[in-house]
Amino acid sequence: MLKDLSAIVTGSTSGIGLGIAEALAQAGAKVMLNGFGEASQIEQLRARIEAEAGVRIAYSAADMAQAEQVRRMVSEAEQQFGTVDILVNNAGIQFIAPVDEFPDEKWSQILAINLTSNFLAIKAALPGMKRRNRGRIVNIASAHGLIASPFKSAYVAAKHGTIGLTKTVALEVAETAITCNAVCPGYVHTPLLEGQIKEQARAHRMSEQQVVKDVILASQPNKRFIQPQELAALVLFLCSDSAASITGAALPMDGGWTAR
Ligand code: NAD
Repeated sequence: MLKDLSAIVTGSTSGIGLGIAEALAQAGAKVMLNGFGEASQIEQLRARIEAEAGVRIAYSAADMAQAEQVRRMVSEAEQQFGTVDILVNNAGIQFIAPVDEFPDEKWSQILAINLTSNFLAIKAALPGMKRRNRGRIVNIASAHGLIASPFKSAYVAAKHGTIGLTKTVALEVAETAITCNAVCPGYVHTPLLEGQIKEQARAHRMSEQQVVKDVILASQPNKRFIQPQELAALVLFLCSDSAASITGAALPMDGGWTAR
C-alpha cells in the first residue's frame, strides 16, 4: 500500500510510535525511526523491523526539544530516502503536578517536545510534500487535546495546541493532495502511562492497581487500555489513498471517553 513512500515517525523507539513505525514498514514504507534509548537496543530494533518488513529502516537520534535537531532529522530523511511523504509527530512526554506547583522548566520542555517539534517538523517537511503534491501528516495528540484533566496543565495545553496546529495546516494545504490530521488516543498501555500510574499513585496515595481501576480507566468507558496496534491501524488508514478527503480532523480513539 505504501510502497515507494518514505516516513518519519518521531518517538518511535517505544510505545505508540513503535507500533506505528512497524505498521508503516509492513505496508511497504521506508521509515526513519526516532527517539531515545540504549544505542545497541535501538540498532536491534531497527534491524529487526528492516528484516521483517523488507524495507529500509533508518534512525535519527534527534532530540525533539532542540529545533536544529528536528530540522536536521527531516533533511537527513530527505537525503537518505529521497522524499518524506509521511510525517507522524508522535514524540511526547508527560508531567503531573498542580498548576501552582508546576515547574517552569517542565512546562517549557513539554511545550517544546509535544507541540513546538510538530510545528518545526511540519515546517521542514512541507515544502517537499508541496513540490510533489503528495503528503500525509498525522499528529498524535490525545483525548487531552479535546478535554482536560487536573494536574496536566502543560500536557493539556500542548495537546490542545497540536489540534489547533493540525487544523491550520490542513486548511493551508486543503487544495493539494496533502492531508493533516490529529489522532486523539485515550489511555494506551505504554512506558509513558506506566510512569503516570506511579506518579498518580503517589499523588492520590493509592496503590497502582487502584489508580488503574479508579483513576485511569474510570474515565475510559470501555474499561480497557487501547493497544498501540489499534492506533497504528488508524494511522495507516489516514496514510492511504482512501483517506484523501479526511483532513483537519481530530479523531478520537478513546473507548468513549470524550463522548461523555
Ligand atoms: P512512550 O514513552 O512509550 O514513547 C515516547 C517516545 O518518545 C519514545 O520513543 C521516547 O524515546 C520518545 N521521546 C521522548 N522525548 C523525546 C525527545 N525529546 N526527542 C525525541 N524523542 C523523544 O509514550 P507513548 O505512550 O507511546 O506516547 C506517544 C505519544 O502518544 C505521545 O505524544 C503521547 O502524548 C501520546 N499519547 C499517549 C497516550 C497513552 O496513554 N500512552 C494517550 C494519549 C496520547
